[in-house]
Parts: sequence; structure tokens; C-alpha cells
Amino acid sequence: MTSTAAIDVAHLIDRLDRLARSGEAVGELNPAQWEALRFVARANRFSRTPAALAEYLGSTRGTVSQTLIALEQKGHVTREPSLRDRRSIMLELTPMGAHAMRRDPILALAADIEATAPNQLEAVVEVLRTALHAMITRNGGRAFGACYTCRHFRKGGGSGRSEPHHCALLDEQLSEADSRAICVEQEA
Ligand code: SF4
Repeated sequence: MTSTAAIDVAHLIDRLDRLARSGEAVGELNPAQWEALRFVARANRFSRTPAALAEYLGSTRGTVSQTLIALEQKGHVTREPSLRDRRSIMLELTPMGAHAMRRDPILALAADIEATAPNQLEAVVEVLRTALHAMITRNGGRAFGACYTCRHFRKGGGSGRSEPHHCALLDEQLSEADSRAICVEQEA
């Protein structure tokens, strides 16, 4: 039987999510556009595709396509044929998109969490990440975890200072920034 404390935590997460989203409605983008823009800002170069975005959001490709068209028209993302696979579209954040991310309404929630538990952030992340993993395992779907948590990540296995790490699955060099990005292929 689930404890009262665990149910309280679930309700708090739900409430925080709703309040954070209510701030999105007054910004320059609607909630769906903010979600897509966050994905493009956080995903690595193997994952910034409309198909991966649809999978990340649990949405249809048609819905995601409409969102991306709106973001492109507002000047926040570009959609270009992928250099790795010309049949695939690669999404990139524009300088205007990067500027918008610095005003992301979710940063207010992040600041509140940091102010509340500055010395417990790693523990909070670990709890939430493990709960997310359990939910994904139950419902199916991909984790989209951070690269450095992947079993294919080889810390220090890269070829140089700018790309110090290596992906054993894709045989690709990885920078420090790549190691923090989320990835469609990530496996815990
Ligand atoms: S190490 Fe894992 S998460 Fe990182 S790029 Fe390779 S498959 Fe993706």
C-alpha cells in the first residue's frame, strides 16, 4: 500500500507542474512550444529530430510538426536536412531561441527548488530520476536520460580536449556539453 507521504509528494509534483505551466501561458510561446524548445535546447545532435521530439513528448508527429512550424516562424528554431542522414530533419536552436530559453518560466521553479534545498539537489534528482525510470518501464518508451548516465558513455575515452569522451554505441566523440545533453539512445 502506498504511504500517505508518497501520495503527498505525488500531489506536490502535480501542483508544481501546473503552477509552472500557468506561467508559460503569459510568455511569448504557448506551453507546447516551450516544451519543444526545451527539448531542442537540451537534446544532443543524435536526438534533435521531429521523430525523437514526438517520442519525448508522447505526442503525434503531426502535432509536433505544427509546433515546430510555429517555432520556426517565430525565429526560435531551424529545420534542416540532417548531415548524418539526408532523409531526416535536424532541429537547431537559433540565437533568438537561445535568448528565449534564458527567460524560460521553468527557471523560476528551478530557483525555488535551489533556494529550498541547496545541499540536497543531487538526492532530489536521484529520487525523481528513479521514479521517472520506473514509470517509463511500466508505460514503455525511452528514458531520454543525460548522456553521462548512459551505459555506452566512455568518460575520458575521446580523442582530445574539446571532445574528451566517447559514445561506444554510435562510435562518436563527445564534448563535455554533449555529456550533459539528453539522448534518444540513452540506456541507464
Ligand atoms: S553514450 Fe548513450 S546517451 Fe551518450 S550519445 Fe551514446 S547512446 Fe547517446
